[in-house]
Amino acid sequence: MDIVAVVTEPGTDFNPRRMERYFTLIRRSGASPLILLNKTDLFSREEVEKAMQILRELSPECAIISISALHNRGITEFRKCLSKGKTICIVGSSGVGKSTLVNTLLGDEWLWTGEVNEVTGKGRHTTVARELVLLKHGGLLIDNPGIREIQMWTDEHTLRESFADLTELAHECKFADCSHGKDSGCAIRKAVDEGKLDKERYLNFLNLENEIARLAKRQKKRQMNVERAGKRDRKVQARNYEDRVELERRHKPNHRSHD
Ligand code: GDP
Ligand code: ZN
Repeated sequence: MDIVAVVTEPGTDFNPRRMERYFTLIRRSGASPLILLNKTDLFSREEVEKAMQILRELSPECAIISISALHNRGITEFRKCLSKGKTICIVGSSGVGKSTLVNTLLGDEWLWTGEVNEVTGKGRHTTVARELVLLKHGGLLIDNPGIREIQMWTDEHTLRESFADLTELAHECKFADCSHGKDSGCAIRKAVDEGKLDKERYLNFLNLENEIARLAKRQKKRQMNVERAGKRDRKVQARNYEDRVELERRHKPNHRSHD
């Protein structure tokens, strides 16, 4: 992947903290992040500019393009980032307009907005397909499903890394074991009080250890589910006599294939 484009919008989806996670994860993957601020037609110029400003401060070197996928605005500028030999994938929460963007990008040839990609069979409106599209003017595009659990991809290191500046700042606290709560001489509290540090980010930082513990727990649970599913699959396979013979044959050392 050369470019990972994160689609968001200035409204309810807007979450600087989540964007920060995206930035860290994308950078660690070796790809370049690109932010597409979508649905700008629904917001005032000031609202759009404010969101752009926050994103710029979060990651000054990341390209940010404001677009309206529905009204074909800013798409030309986005197209400039796509070229032959480059692979781009589009990520972002469900409902931010990823499918609309892909449709706009491709014209009438492809249509998979909304509930087209239902494979769950449970009547849930979830985009689960992953499409790979060769763009006419060059470039390869992967349309990803909305990512609900970006935390699943992360790890302790990444989480800590996204607070590296605060860890650095903590060195200036008066006490080495400062809890950054009511302790006197706390550099982090001071930054919050002076409006240099976002209050919410500060609270997230205080909660970091809890979050790391929670992440470890969830990842373990997930791992257990995966293992259980694997066992179940093997059992189902072995229920069929022919499969069982085949499984045994495969598991015997030095087996010879008959065909
Ligand atoms: P996805 O889940 O990220 O693929 O989101 P969709 O592409 O399915 O879009 C979700 C909803 O947002 C749809 O009703 C779209 O019509 C709408 N939408 C997408 N882009 C825009 C936009 O630029 N402006 C406005 N007003 N609505 C949009
Ligand atoms: Zn402190």
